[in-house]
Amino acid sequence: MKYSNLFTKTLKDIPHDADSANAEFLTRGGYIHQEVAGVYTFCPLGLKVLRKVEQIIREEMEAIGGQEILMPAMTPKEVWVKTGRWDNFDALFRFKGAGDKEYALGATHEEIVTPLGKDYTFSYKDLPFSVFQIQNKFRNEPRAKSGILRGREFSMKDLYSFHTGQEDLDKFYEIAKKAYYKIFERLGFDPKITYLTYASGGAFSKYSHEFQVVSDVGEDHIYCCEKCRVAVNREILDDQKTCPECDNKDLVEKKGIEVGNIFKLGTKFSDSFEFKYTDENGKQNSVPMGCYGIGPSRIMGSLVEVYHDENGIMWPKPVTPFQVHLISIKGAEKEADKLYDDLKKEGVEVLYDDRDERPGAKFNDADLIGIPLRIVVSTRTLEKEGVEWKERDQKEAKDVALDKLVAEIKKYYS
Ligand code: ATP
Ligand code: MG
Repeated sequence: MKYSNLFTKTLKDIPHDADSANAEFLTRGGYIHQEVAGVYTFCPLGLKVLRKVEQIIREEMEAIGGQEILMPAMTPKEVWVKTGRWDNFDALFRFKGAGDKEYALGATHEEIVTPLGKDYTFSYKDLPFSVFQIQNKFRNEPRAKSGILRGREFSMKDLYSFHTGQEDLDKFYEIAKKAYYKIFERLGFDPKITYLTYASGGAFSKYSHEFQVVSDVGEDHIYCCEKCRVAVNREILDDQKTCPECDNKDLVEKKGIEVGNIFKLGTKFSDSFEFKYTDENGKQNSVPMGCYGIGPSRIMGSLVEVYHDENGIMWPKPVTPFQVHLISIKGAEKEADKLYDDLKKEGVEVLYDDRDERPGAKFNDADLIGIPLRIVVSTRTLEKEGVEWKERDQKEAKDVALDKLVAEIKKYYS
């Protein structure tokens, strides 16, 4: 992508209501554009990051057998009445359509997925299975804040699993938990700041499990066991003053951003919809369910919170919008143009700053946008038949010969 073709522009000024690093840098970098509090457009750079985050999640959900579907955002009132949540879900956006028919915008999808599963499940032979979607959710959050960390419309991956019994659910739950660990590692989060956190489980199990990333903008208070790398959410700490895994009493308080949450739902939702299956003995049984949520847009914001400096973003390699930020300096335009074409032919993702701008302005924008690798072509580097190679998280630059460049880039990203 040529920078001169990108319709967004970087902004010098900090948006007046930017209350967090992600709100500031993502807005100034042209990644996102706020429409109203908690509601954002994802511009080309932002959508590239979001799609990469989603793709990693999708791959890991498919790896555990999840089948991707897309449920509607518009959901009828009746199903919410059936589960008793029409009147009790505070954050539900409710509205009326033609003929005064009432709907809610999907804030979560148990009410849709449970009757869906029921329609295709007859006997024990049809179980277990799991389905997931990556879709925008709508919640009337009393206070939208921290850029894309707490939105009113936001992206969520939600997976739902259906089982023959508790044992089957327990087994799958552990598999899903492992998949979540893998997702956070693949996204580039340092495992040292990612905690599996015991949180309240609702009516059906003692705990649910959250995945929390340690950050000062986090709204959750978690008590961390440094030995097991697990934590306990303060909201339940009253009856849990020690590490649930090793009984360690030395828990350290930190602030966390909840990036994922997995739950055993038991038969709460299947019972509401009289979803039963026939077992081997011809007996009718309830269907225990699990649900597994994760927020791609909140994850994108959290990565910025964790990986930035005073000049801008420092994307982890797996989610960077482009692999290379190529910059031409006056006098080397022709050579830079050619390098851009060559890199693209080699399958390298390049953002090419081909503007007629001062080098300093181009470098500042590169720091703000935060692509891990900056490559500069100038008359100086061309004298040595090379380019300047600078990594976003390193102070020093180095020269790399043009004929070695593609191999070096591939090595850097392997
Ligand atoms: P919170 O306690 O932060 O309000 P939640 O517990 O209500 O979140 P879940 O229903 O567990 O959220 O949703 C699953 C995931 O969706 C969360 O772990 C988070 O990653 C994401 N998420 C939830 N609410 C928001 C929001 N308002 N904006 C962005 N992402 C969100
Ligand atoms: Mg949660």
